[in-house]
Amino acid sequence: MTLQNHIGWNFNNSYAQLSEKLFAKQLPAAVPNPKMVYFNDELAKTLGLDFSTVSENDKAQLFSGNLLPIGAVPIAQAYAGHQFGHFTMLGDGRAILLGEHLSPNNKLFDIQLKGSGQTPYSRRGDGKATLRSMLREFLISEAMYHMGVPTSRSLAIVSTGEKVYREEVHEGAVLTRVMSSHIRVGTFEYISNFLDVATLQEFTHYVIQRHYPELAENANSPLALLKAVMNKQMDLVINWLRVGFIHGVMNTDNMSIAGETFDYGPCAFMNNYHPDTVFSSIDVQGRYAFGKQPGIVQWNLVCLTETLIPLIDKDTDKAVKMAQEVINSFPAIYQEKWWQMNGLKLGLTTVSDNEKQLIEELLSWMQNNQADYTNTYLTIANYPQQTDEKYTAPDFARWYQRWEGILKANNISLTSALNTMQQHNPELIPRNHLVEKALDDVCLQQDNILFDELLKTGKTPYQAQPNYKHLQTPPPDGDKGYKTFCGT
Ligand code: AMP
Ligand code: MG
Repeated sequence: MTLQNHIGWNFNNSYAQLSEKLFAKQLPAAVPNPKMVYFNDELAKTLGLDFSTVSENDKAQLFSGNLLPIGAVPIAQAYAGHQFGHFTMLGDGRAILLGEHLSPNNKLFDIQLKGSGQTPYSRRGDGKATLRSMLREFLISEAMYHMGVPTSRSLAIVSTGEKVYREEVHEGAVLTRVMSSHIRVGTFEYISNFLDVATLQEFTHYVIQRHYPELAENANSPLALLKAVMNKQMDLVINWLRVGFIHGVMNTDNMSIAGETFDYGPCAFMNNYHPDTVFSSIDVQGRYAFGKQPGIVQWNLVCLTETLIPLIDKDTDKAVKMAQEVINSFPAIYQEKWWQMNGLKLGLTTVSDNEKQLIEELLSWMQNNQADYTNTYLTIANYPQQTDEKYTAPDFARWYQRWEGILKANNISLTSALNTMQQHNPELIPRNHLVEKALDDVCLQQDNILFDELLKTGKTPYQAQPNYKHLQTPPPDGDKGYKTFCGT
């Protein structure tokens, strides 16, 4: 396909030039009948890619892996990870990194095919993905991006014409995932456990150059890296808590060093506020429940810390002490960020004791009254225009008056508070029951109407969308019995 010359691929492939123990060269498996399902024009544009002269058929060949982009050097990355607390060797079992594309604004992006066949790391898996789960990832990752949450993005979905066997027979698909890199806490764990310190050093240098170049000159750059990753991952989890997102499988192999959300397997959004909310079918202990996510970020950072010890100082005791100081600073820094975020959700720009009490009261009121997390903030912003009797009850009215009093005491006008609130509280989140219905409609009825509606409205999550009120309403039973699944 000579037309590829016009697309604008600009592959750099720096990862494939690292130690060969970090990956396996691997071509995507050929698929019998690739068909374009979704293509993200807006993302293609930001990457500086132009497909206007490429036919749908050729696009499908490219994004299924049947045809390689010019300059791609396909590899499967090696990594390990703590899954539900247990250390395991993993690696890309069903994903292939085509390489890193350099965008017009000089940013590197991994271009990865997910569901593109077996690799040396597949263990017993088939290397495939179902159309249903790739549509789910496409929809939710794009919604997260537009909500301002750092995340991997989805460039394309191609159906493969193959059957994929899970509990049922599914249509197969390949998703093109775009991310600033797929380097994980688990990548460091792999090197630390199975390779040598020289490789760890080379790799850490690479990560700093790629993601935190400002730390390169730091007197102790591995320690500075740890701090930087800690801050990025804290900001990420604060964003998740802000919009009600539950990742569902925060194993160390699913935590990005650049602090981006990825691996949209069993994730979901919380409707009624409760910190114990968990939907993943395999998370029986609630390890990755909504309110446990910050603690897990810290736990995962400890895993990263352990790998960096030999680079922090030759004297292990000294290195451990320095690293511990960083990790021990987590709770206080996190707590401050958490109050800030909760303050902004209520239009408050500074948070001290009175504001903290107000925030806590609202959260426990929501928890005790099975109130919808997203809609409660919208109700506050529109008070007293609402229909739900929960909010006319005296306890809520009293809370609202206290909020008004605190705004006044802070010299914040209602208009200014509402303006702040609008920037921090999404009007629309992908409601679990609607996401599942949209996927049923596409996969079982070839009906894309709801899916397209969710995709479209998800692009402007902070705007009131009066025509789409039906997308804002939680299910009457509040997601009772809703379950999500890993790796389908
Ligand atoms: P995940 O739960 O998606 O983070 O996946 C955990 C590990 O299982 C990763 O190493 C994946 O590459 C691998 N994996 C998941 N599904 C498959 C599959 N169908 N075939 C091969 N490997 C898989
Ligand atoms: Mg994963």
